[in-house]
Order: sequence, then structure tokens, then C-alpha cells
Amino acid sequence: MAVIMIVVVVIYILRLFSLQILEDKYKKGAASNAFLNKTIYPPRGLLYDRNDSLLVYNKPAYDIAFINREIRNLDTLSFCNDLKITKEYFIERMKEVKNRDKNPSYSSLTPQVFMTQLEIKDVAAVQQSMYKYSGFYIQTRTLREYRYAAGGHVLGSIGEITPRMLENDEEGYYDPGDYVGRDGFEFTYEKDLKGEKGVEVLLRDARGRIKGKYEEGRKDIAPKAGKNIKMTLDIKLQILGEQLLAGKVGSVVAIEPNTGEILAMVSNPTFDPSLLVGRERSKNYSLLVNDPTKPLMNRATQAQYSPGSSFKPFQALVALKQGAINEGTRFSCNGPGSSPIRCTHHHGSPVSLLNAIEQSCNPYFWHTFESTLVKGGYGKDNQNFRKNYDEWRINIMKFGFGARFEDSDIYQQSRGNIPSENYFDKVYKSKTGWRALTIRSLSIGQGEVLVTPLQLANATSVIANRGFFITPHLNKSDSMLLHKHDVGVDKRHFQVVDEGMWRVNEFGTARSYKVPGINWCGKTGTVQNNRGKDHAFYMGYAPRENPKIAIAVVVENAGFGSTFAAPIASLMVEQYLTGKVVRTDLLTKTMNVRTNANVKEY
Ligand SMILES: [Zn+2]
Repeated sequence: MAVIMIVVVVIYILRLFSLQILEDKYKKGAASNAFLNKTIYPPRGLLYDRNDSLLVYNKPAYDIAFINREIRNLDTLSFCNDLKITKEYFIERMKEVKNRDKNPSYSSLTPQVFMTQLEIKDVAAVQQSMYKYSGFYIQTRTLREYRYAAGGHVLGSIGEITPRMLENDEEGYYDPGDYVGRDGFEFTYEKDLKGEKGVEVLLRDARGRIKGKYEEGRKDIAPKAGKNIKMTLDIKLQILGEQLLAGKVGSVVAIEPNTGEILAMVSNPTFDPSLLVGRERSKNYSLLVNDPTKPLMNRATQAQYSPGSSFKPFQALVALKQGAINEGTRFSCNGPGSSPIRCTHHHGSPVSLLNAIEQSCNPYFWHTFESTLVKGGYGKDNQNFRKNYDEWRINIMKFGFGARFEDSDIYQQSRGNIPSENYFDKVYKSKTGWRALTIRSLSIGQGEVLVTPLQLANATSVIANRGFFITPHLNKSDSMLLHKHDVGVDKRHFQVVDEGMWRVNEFGTARSYKVPGINWCGKTGTVQNNRGKDHAFYMGYAPRENPKIAIAVVVENAGFGSTFAAPIASLMVEQYLTGKVVRTDLLTKTMNVRTNANVKEY
């Protein structure tokens, strides 16, 4: 008797436990027997540029959904005709939706998405005869619309949620078929832009058919619209940048130095963002993804280049900080006959730091780098040299090189590279196997040094600001993003660099691209690479007093930085500071330069 009693009690407890555990699920199931909770989708937040120009807004889109239990006597053929789909597609798609492996939340009682992201023209026919197709209904949604065919990489796109994103959705907010920010700004700010879904509670009768609103809609929850966001972009500048890069492979990044606000972020080849909207999305996506010129890649943040001569101003500042040189230090230069690094120019010798920046003297920067690394000698087992190298690396990285801006809202950044001691230890097989001479190409921004155009523009803003940068960012509404990073270089050291870069634009390699009425500073770069012609670089800021724009330009396989990158920067500066471009000849000429025959326009 006692044993039987115990067994009964145990069974009872187990049953109670399982009921408790399953209660939530049970409740849900029971609820959907009597009620139908129909989702009402909120409008997504709108995007504006820094001057309140509307960039991205919503247009209506429609999903065809069904509740399997409510499908009665469907005239499949007529339904397919109205939707302009084949009967095979219909059968295949129904199978797919009902397959619990692919769609684990499938239930015959809840709404299931049959087709998504349709436009009004696609649903017009079916809408009129919807009453015939009991069990099917049209769900209103919104898709993105773009006022300008520009900024595709920065803005990003929305698309149907992926199974992986659904799995990672811890709050359980999303349902299969929902649209989410898939990349770019739309992805970063998904939480703010999405809004909150609402619910319409409908009542069913005993046979499961919908009878109407429950309690006259008193239990309904209204959807909450997504937040509108003002971006830091200046759309006019962005559009000009895209026009200037037409027919070329490269990028332009412009930043407001004292706020870190990205004014323009251009990557070419590019695409019209409206190509990635709605049902055409996946077709267009595969077209873009298969183009060998990689139009989907945002080169401004993802491409990594050796910066060449545009690295020299930063080398100078770090050497001044580490006390390896001072403003009066001179080194000799034998022009193209110099060793171990040739000079690409003929100029007087010995050369001062000021003239070395203006003339982009390679030997000067080699001597500067060597002085930085061997200050105090190599030491036992190169220990002092290694300490100096490490200090140099830390100081260079303070300009934002060699790492992502982790406190930024900019999507998909590459790290670039400022090689560590460990890296060279591995390459040269020991801690003493490499010396200043071994890594000399770093002195002129070549070798292992890699930067992204975003990093170069940001570091340029450090010079413009005389010693700090604010984390580059894209959301103007969010003051949380204003992180200040001091590079720890004394203000007075910037004077010689500023003067040298002013001379480049006034008398030097970029003198042909003066901006009318504006004093500004810059540096060109021409960087060898093993695939075709040199990459053209330019970095600069304007106006010289109280700079409002810092800019970096890269044109791949174009040739001289002074010929191909400087005019682009100059026109961008003119547009931003004066609101227009008066040098229309230069504008037309620059826009029409084609440096890559494979670049297509999408
Ligand atoms: Zn020289």
C-alpha cells in the first residue's frame, strides 16, 4: 500500500511540475484558439541629413499572409493568377511555410507569411477579390524609399530577417518574415528605427472562424513609430563625392574635425540604394555581390592601404613627441641617389622638417624614424630599440590607426595595421633579427603599415584640431558619441606640420588646386602597389584657421596623388565651405576621368 501511495504521489508531483512548466505554452495555445492576435507594423524611423534634408522614408508594402485553419475551398488557379505566380510556386511555398524544420514557429492557427515585400501594383488584383480567398489576407508593411540615389553604403538597407538573426533575438520581438536593418546605418540603429509593433485582438467562434474585434478593440495595442534620426551627412557633399569618383575605384571621407561628424563617406563603385528594396532585393544583391569590382564593399571603412607620403605628417608628430627630432633638426638628402631610401625630388640639403614635409623628402623621414627607434642606442638584446618601437607604435595608434573605432557607430570597419614587435619577431625569427634598417619602409608609410580612408581622414582631423579627435560617427542626434581622444602631442609641435602642409597646397604638389579665397593645408601621396598603377592619395583640412573639414581621398590605380586625388579633395572643400563649385571646368574634367574601365554604374 505504502509503495503504491508513494508512486501515486510521485506521479502526481511530476504531472503538476510538467503542467507548471508547460503552462505558458498552454496558455498561448489556448489563447490562439479563441483569439487571433494580428500584428500591426509601425512605420520605421526616418533619416535626415545634417541640414534636415529628408534622405530615407517609407512607402507602403504588402505581405500576403494566411491562417491555415481558415482556408476554405481555395480556388488556387484564380488566386495564383491574381498574384501572378505559378501553381508550382504556390505548392512549393506552402510546403516551405508548413515545414517545421524551416519554420519552427509554424501553427495552423496563427498568421503565416506567404509572400512578402509586394508593392501596390503586385497586390492590386488580389486585393479586389480577397473576399473569395478565405484564410488569406493582406498585411500592410512599409519599405524604404530614397530621395537621392546616393549614400548606399552608409545608409545600408533593410531586408527580411534571417534565421540566424531570429535565433539571436533574445527578447523574442521578431517573427519570421519581419523586416530588419541588414547593414549600414539601418543595421546599427535597428533598435531605434524599428519602433514597436502593435496588436489587434480578434475573436474567433467555436469553429475557429474570426468573428470580429474583441471587446471593440479595447485590448488592442497601437503600434509605436520608430525614432527619426538626424545623420551627420551633408547630402550635397555626399552626392558631389559620388560624382567625382565616377569611373574610378576609391573613396572619400570628410569629417568635421571638432565634432567627429562624418560629412561625407563615399566609396566607388557604388549603387543606388533603392536597388536593395523589396522583392528585387535578392536579385540585385547577387548582381552586386558577383561584380569583381566589389560595389557592395564600403572601401571608406573596409579597404586597407599603405598610406605612403600621407603618413609623413604623423611620423613627424610622433618623432617630435618622443624627442627624436625637434623643429630645427636637419638631415642631408642626396635626392634620387639617397640610400637606403631614394628621394623622389631634387631639393637643397641638408633639409629642415618644414621643407621635408613640403617636399615629401623620403630620406628625411627615414632618418627621423631611425632616430626615434635608436634613441639611446639598441641596448642589450635590442631591448632599448624594442622599447622605442613599442612607444612609437602606441603613439601612432593614438591617432586612430591600427584599430577599429570601437566607440563609433560606423558599420564594418577594418582594423588597418600598425605591426607589433611580435609580428616582426615572427617574420625575422628572433627578437634581435630585425633593426631600424629592416623596417625602414614604415618610415614613409609603406611596408606593413595599412590604414583605411576613414582612419586617414580621422588622423587628419587630429592635425586640424592640434592634438585630438572626436570619435568619427554618423548619428548627429546622439551626444553619447562625442568621445574625445587626446593623442598626447604638445600643441606647439603641430605648427611646423601645419605650415608644411599649407606650403604643399600653396607652392607644392597640390598648388594647382587652390580653393578660391580659402587658405588650406594638405599632403599628397603616391603609393606603389603590386597590382597596376600607383594609388593616388590626398589628405587635408580647410580652412587653415579654425578648420571646418578634414578630408582623405584615395583613388586606386590612378597614378599621382597630386593629379588624381588632390582635385577631388579641393572640389569637396569648395562645395562644403562655400556651398557651391565655381570651378566648373575642373569639376567636369575630374568627373570625367576614368581610371578603371570595369567600373559599372548601378
Ligand atoms: Zn629629399
